[in-house]
Amino acid sequence: MADTIESELVVLGAGPGGYGAAFLAADKGMKVTLIDAGEKPGGTCLHVGCIPSKALLHTAKLITDVRDAAHFGLDFGPPKIDLGGVRGQWQKVVATLSTNLLGLCKSRKVEFVHARARFADSRTVQLDDGRRLAFRNCIVATGSLPVKPPALALDSPRVMDSTAALRLEELPASLLVVGGGYIGLELGYVYAALGSKVTVVELTPSLLPGVDSDLVQPLQKRLKGLFHKIYLNTKVVRLSAAANGVKVVLEGEEVEDREPTFERVLIAVGRRPNSRDLGLENTKVQLDEKGVVKVDGQRRTTDEAIWAVGDVAGEPMLAHKATYEGKVAVEAIAGEPAVYDVRAVPAVVFTDPEIAWCGVTQTEAKKQGREVKVERFPWAASGRAATLGRTEGVTKLIVDPETDVVLGVGICGVGAGELIGEGVLAVEMAASARDLAMSMHPHPTLTETLMEDAELLHGSATHYYKPPRK
Ligand code: NAD
Repeated sequence: MADTIESELVVLGAGPGGYGAAFLAADKGMKVTLIDAGEKPGGTCLHVGCIPSKALLHTAKLITDVRDAAHFGLDFGPPKIDLGGVRGQWQKVVATLSTNLLGLCKSRKVEFVHARARFADSRTVQLDDGRRLAFRNCIVATGSLPVKPPALALDSPRVMDSTAALRLEELPASLLVVGGGYIGLELGYVYAALGSKVTVVELTPSLLPGVDSDLVQPLQKRLKGLFHKIYLNTKVVRLSAAANGVKVVLEGEEVEDREPTFERVLIAVGRRPNSRDLGLENTKVQLDEKGVVKVDGQRRTTDEAIWAVGDVAGEPMLAHKATYEGKVAVEAIAGEPAVYDVRAVPAVVFTDPEIAWCGVTQTEAKKQGREVKVERFPWAASGRAATLGRTEGVTKLIVDPETDVVLGVGICGVGAGELIGEGVLAVEMAASARDLAMSMHPHPTLTETLMEDAELLHGSATHYYKPPRK
């Protein structure tokens, strides 16, 4: 067809999965077209996800650190918050990073196309600007969208998803956060630090369900001081418009007021794969019952020229996992021996304190009936944590009892998201706890908590005494 453009590789979606794949493919010499409905590359992560939320979380931490400065003999007084300035700061970061990505597309001769695409068949996508692209291979990296349960549907600007919450249109006096997961706790922390009275409602018996409870505990304790209320085992039954806010019907044993009104509501109850409306029914690609694209170990779908990576290809919905999968798919397309075989997918909740973990968790080990040895090092025994005034943290190792190989690492504490890098390396390289204990760590740093935890596992840590196991 005359108006059909030929492309060796088409990548649908320019988030971390898509642009990571496009850049590697171009570096390997492929002719690549990267398509996104957004004006610039970056996807959800850069434009309305990881980056803006982390910029806001940094702002929030500045506020709470200044508030806690009395502990160090300092008093800065209450902060004056310029909401426009707060918003402008993250928007500047996003603008810079997305322009940089466009620059990287140009340098690598990746053609970035700002359009919406649908599969016309197993070898062609149709763009909404009228063009058609025929491809040899296509990587679907279209990400995910917030889940909107019908019970929580209310068409009102006061009811926000994470994208709307990041816009910070106003600072509500009261905010209800529905969902005590990643987004609920991160954005709840931001709004609470800025001055909103935040109530969190979580359906299950714990915040961050699935995360080891000993890691959640120090965060939960601190959040109790920052949030107005945290209701666990509680359901939001209905939302309705009220004169100055949103009236909410709550169901839960601990709830005192069953029909409170909030100025704003943030719904953060999970995300679903963005696989609808892509024309996948015109291909041989199969989806599971949740709309996740079915893929094999190389991220090839059931249609041999179509691959899928990132959130659209399933949990965990994390940017770094998407990037990794994108690279595996490109290597496979290039005919290289590649497979997604990761032992240590790191996860970080960027609250204050942060929670980070990788590899096998204690919860998973228990579920699988797998025998593991677990050791915790309390940050109360860390000199560095004491100088920071943040001794509430904990570092935890999960080790194979037979071989001493580190299977998983969990950390709750300030900077846990940075510290987990060492855990990732240990798990991926199959380091033993003895290796961690025998690697000299700089003093005084929080990294020592990993070393001392490993020492403790072998019976003797310098700064923490534990009577010998009988
Ligand atoms: P989530 O799965 O982390 O948390 C959703 C929470 O809502 C769960 O605790 C769940 O039990 C609860 N819930 C579900 N229905 C509910 C209801 N009706 N009432 C009350 N609670 C309810 O999902 P999220 O926070 O929306 O985040 C979506 C995804 O985005 C995450 O799975 C994560 O992969 C990704 N994310 C990652 C980061 C990060 O890496 N730091 C940050 C934000 C989001």
